[in-house]
Amino acid sequence: MSARILIVDDIEANRRLLQAKLEAQYHSVILASSGPQALEMAQTHDPEIILLDVMMPGMDGYEVCRRLKADPVTAHIPVVMVTALSDTEDRVRGLDAGAEDFLTKPVDDFLLNSRVNTLMRYNAVTSELRKREASGLKTGAMEIGAGDETDGPARVFLIDDNPRTSARVATMLRENGHKVMTLLESANMGDLAQERTDVLLVSLLSKSFDPLKLCAHFKTNDVTRAVSILLICDPLDRAKAVKGMEIGASDTIMAPVDAPELLARVRAQARRTRYVEILRERVDRGLELSVIDQLTGLFNRRYMTSQLQQYMQRAVMGGKPLSVMMLDIDHFKLINDTHGHQAGDEVLQELADRLRQNIRQVDVACRQGGEEFLVILPETPGEQAFAAAERVRKAIAAGVFSVLRDTQQVSVTVSAGVASLQGPNDTMAELIARADAALYQAKAAGRNCVQSIAA
Ligand code: GH3
Ligand code: MG
Ligand code: MG
Repeated sequence: MSARILIVDDIEANRRLLQAKLEAQYHSVILASSGPQALEMAQTHDPEIILLDVMMPGMDGYEVCRRLKADPVTAHIPVVMVTALSDTEDRVRGLDAGAEDFLTKPVDDFLLNSRVNTLMRYNAVTSELRKREASGLKTGAMEIGAGDETDGPARVFLIDDNPRTSARVATMLRENGHKVMTLLESANMGDLAQERTDVLLVSLLSKSFDPLKLCAHFKTNDVTRAVSILLICDPLDRAKAVKGMEIGASDTIMAPVDAPELLARVRAQARRTRYVEILRERVDRGLELSVIDQLTGLFNRRYMTSQLQQYMQRAVMGGKPLSVMMLDIDHFKLINDTHGHQAGDEVLQELADRLRQNIRQVDVACRQGGEEFLVILPETPGEQAFAAAERVRKAIAAGVFSVLRDTQQVSVTVSAGVASLQGPNDTMAELIARADAALYQAKAAGRNCVQSIAA
């Protein structure tokens, strides 16, 4: 996987060195020598990763990072802070500014490559999710806001079979407010499925099981696939760490574990897991919003159109009947005029409930618009559809609708038209037109009744 990487450093020799290392791995590199230039290139060149020097005259790396993260155009680009200072305080400051990761100079080739590969994988997941979110699923409230709760205490599952190091690392985390479960303290791995986990912290120095096999298991298991794995590595066995990263671990930390570095890395990984989770939730919610009518919870017109087409095809291929019923509230304008628009809305909601209660699970009820509803009745011949429409009509006429916190009672009736699929050449437009014509007949016949167009 080759990436487009923006290197930001005020010193030319530093830029050239990183460029050489990255180009040797077939990444393509763009260069910026100051904060303002970096911001401009991030906007115009759409880099996939930004390596950002901390110490620069004028605008320093923290400020650049903050601005990148505040701009919706660049906020999603992972930023790796590159710091000459071995002071761990700076790492925490980088994460505070919103950076995803950090490296210390002189930059180690192994660490550089593993960070870049991890961020590329992370990008692949999030860009897929962002694409889906962007494609027709814009709902206003779905922008990635700075207020997202990605930075609370992390839930860490610590997997280290050495009681001494396990206890030491667990204490480091707990003293800083993180919630830790350890393999040694917990009865079994089943706890993982119950508790939401942000980070799997796996020691590659474990002897009683194969930690790499375990990582592979985590990455193929549905419950744990999206959870970041942080590896505790043996500095004398880097090959094992490289394998771990290939399998899908997100990050590494060398043993013996240094507390500030551990805390910074756990925090970065927890943030990553949660960010992906938040995106997923939004995509799910977005998909729901795009097919569900918000007032009634029934399917909307868009969904109805796409589904009806498919139901018709399936019915034709399977030689099965298919019917639709179209419902329209009688004199709904009068209800609005008499009781107000809010009451009208509540009538629509209550009507949707009664409709749902009087059709089968397999039937697809949609709000076509305004006070018109359409129900797709799979595998249903005309007579049965007519009977179903009668049942719905009666259920609506049977009792008054209580609205505006029970202060007003409204009598509601509907008229309905039923039509059925007529052979393989029938079209959706014609089917709906027939249901509409039947509905018109029902209105003409005095309302509060069902009519059908003979198949
Ligand atoms: P008919 O028996 O012939 O169907 O008469 P009607 O009054 O029901 O039909 P008409 O099409 O004249 O009026 C429909 C009314 O439905 C007009 C519109 O203001 C109202 N309406 C449409 N959508 C909504 C909605 O979401 N909420 C509310 N409260 N009213 C709506
Ligand atoms: Mg009406
Ligand atoms: Mg109408």
